[in-house]
Formats: sequence, structure tokens, C-alpha cells
Amino acid sequence: MTPTTPDDQKACEQAAILVLDCLPHYIADTAKELAYVHNRQPLWAFVAGHILRAYENGELAVPIMDPGWPRHFTNVPDPLNGRYKCKWCGAEFAPHRYKQQYCQNSCGTAAQHLEDEAKAESTGKGPR
Ligand SMILES: [Zn+2]
Repeated sequence: MTPTTPDDQKACEQAAILVLDCLPHYIADTAKELAYVHNRQPLWAFVAGHILRAYENGELAVPIMDPGWPRHFTNVPDPLNGRYKCKWCGAEFAPHRYKQQYCQNSCGTAAQHLEDEAKAESTGKGPR
């Protein structure tokens, strides 16, 4: 996703500033200067570009954790180990993948069908 609206761009920029401000100030200041002055790009693109670089270099899975960060920020529970409530039927389930919202395919399909119908109705392009 690329932020296209001014609101999205502003939100991404503020998020990048917040993330960088978690780092020692000399690193955050250097990154901001490199992004704004040298590269003339939004800070979010600079930060995202470094994540892409880490991915391309096979380094995404092994980030460097600042020892100054509180332990509860660096050792969060695995979201796949939690129990979640299906957005369609309300049943509790253990997800098999990140961001899974439905307990099974039929619930996801039913929710998608309802969403498609609502969209078709609102645009007047639905079946008659
Ligand atoms: Zn369900």
C-alpha cells in the first residue's frame, strides 16, 4: 500500500517519526536529516525503504533489539498462540495465519458475500 491521500501521507509520516523517536536521538536525527535533506523523501518512505532493504538482504527475521527497550516491548506474545473470536459466527478459534478474522473458510466466504451484496446495493450495480 502506498499512502495516496494527504491524510494517509500525514499519518504515515507521523508514524515514522514516532518509530524513529524510539531510537537513540543521534540515530533518529541522522535518519531524519538523510531522508529530508539528502534524499528529499518522506520519512515513512525512508523507513519503509530500509525494511525493504532488510527483506531483500534476508535480514528481516533478525532485527537488532535495543537493550534499552522494555522487555514487554521486545518479547510480545505470538499472536498465533492466542484465541480469537470469529467475526462472522462468533466462535472462538486458534488462527492459522496472521490477521485471520474468521474461524473457517465458510465464515469468510459468507462475510465476503454479504459485503459484496451491500457494495452492489450501494452502487446500484447489483443483480435485479
Ligand atoms: Zn466462524
